[in-house]
Amino acid sequence: MIEDKNPQRTPLSELGEFGLIEHLTKEVSLKHKSTIKGIGDDAAVLSFDSKKTVVSTDMLIEGVHFDLSYVPLKHLGYKAVMVNLSDIYAMNATASHITVSIAVSNRFPVEALEELYEGIYTAAKIYDIDVIGGDTTSSTTGLIISVTAIGHADEDEIVYRSGAKENDLLVVTGDLGGAYLGLQVLEREKEVYKVNPSVQPDLDKYTYLIERQLKPEARKDIMLLLQKLEVKPTSMIDISDGLSSEVLHLCKSSSVGVNLYEEKIPLDPTVISTCEEFSLNSTTVALSGGEDYELLFTIAQEDYPKIKANPNFTVIGHMLDQKSGNALVTRANERIELKAQGWNPIQNDN
Ligand code: ADP
Ligand code: MG
Repeated sequence: MIEDKNPQRTPLSELGEFGLIEHLTKEVSLKHKSTIKGIGDDAAVLSFDSKKTVVSTDMLIEGVHFDLSYVPLKHLGYKAVMVNLSDIYAMNATASHITVSIAVSNRFPVEALEELYEGIYTAAKIYDIDVIGGDTTSSTTGLIISVTAIGHADEDEIVYRSGAKENDLLVVTGDLGGAYLGLQVLEREKEVYKVNPSVQPDLDKYTYLIERQLKPEARKDIMLLLQKLEVKPTSMIDISDGLSSEVLHLCKSSSVGVNLYEEKIPLDPTVISTCEEFSLNSTTVALSGGEDYELLFTIAQEDYPKIKANPNFTVIGHMLDQKSGNALVTRANERIELKAQGWNPIQNDN
C-alpha cells in the first residue's frame, strides 16, 4: 500500500556491519552536557550530577508489534522512540538519551534503514534526546528494534506506581481508544487492498485514528504542566496496554481498590463514530485497546481544584481501600469487576 519513497535498493552487504553503523550514525549530534561520550567507544559515558537515573527498554518485533505492509519505516522509527520515552515520562522524569539496537535481514536495503533512522532522529530532535549508542546485528527473518531510554529526575520528583492512597482521584490525559481503532482501519484497508490493489482508500475521516496508531506522541508536556500547577501525582503509569490493565497495575502496586466510571472515560468523537461503524463497544476499546501512550495518575483530593479546568486532564475515578475491590461503574450505575483484557476480548465482544 505504501510506496517506497526511495527507489534505490543498496544491499546491506555492500556496506557490511561497521559500514552500516557508520552510515546510520554519522550525522548524530549531541546536545546534552550530560553526554560525556556518545557513539564510538565500547560504552557511552553519562553524567547526571546529583540526579537519579531512570532507565527503560522496549523491543518491537515485526509480525508481533508492527506490520510493514502498512507501517512506513519512518513512522516505525518514530514510534519505537515514543514507546520508550513514554515510560520515562511516566516516572515523572526527563528523558535525555536513547540507545537503538536493530536486527535486520538481507531483505532490507540500506535505504529502508535510512528511513527507519530518519524517524528515530526526528523523534530525538523534537524530544531533545541524544542518541548515544546501540547494536546492529542480523536477523534471519523479521526486523527487530530495541530502544533503551535514559532519563533523570531529583529523587523526590520520581513518581512510582505504588504511591496511590485511598480517596485519591484517578486522572487520565488526552483521550483513549484511538490507536486501537487506527489499527482496525489499517487492517481493514490491507484486506481490501489484497483483494483489489487498484482501490484507492479514502481514509480522510480516520486521520486522527491513524495518526494515533502510526505516530503516537509521548506526553513530555505533562510533567511540565503538573509542575506549573504545583501538583505531584501520588502514582503514575503510561497507557500502553489499555486503560483497565494499567488501572489494575496501579491498584496492585499501591494496595488500593478503585471505582472507575464508564461515563467519564474520555473519547474523541471519531472514536465514538468509528466504534459504531465497526460494531465495537467504545468502553471496551478504551479499556483494552492499548497503545494510546497517554498518562494515568492519581492525585490527592485537595489537588483537584488545580487540575479541574485543564482540558488535558479527565478525572475518571477514585481509589478505594483494597477490600472494596477494583470496579468499573457502568452508565447504568452497576458496579462490575474491572478485568485486564487483552486484545482478543474486543474481537469477541461484538
Ligand atoms: P561493540 O563491538 O562494542 O558492540 P559496535 O561495533 O557494535 O561495538 O558499535 C560501535 C559503536 O556504534 C558503539 O558506540 C555502538 O553503541 C554504536 N552503534 C552500533 N549499532 C548502532 C545502532 N544501530 N544505532 C546507534 N548506534 C549504534
Ligand atoms: Mg555491538
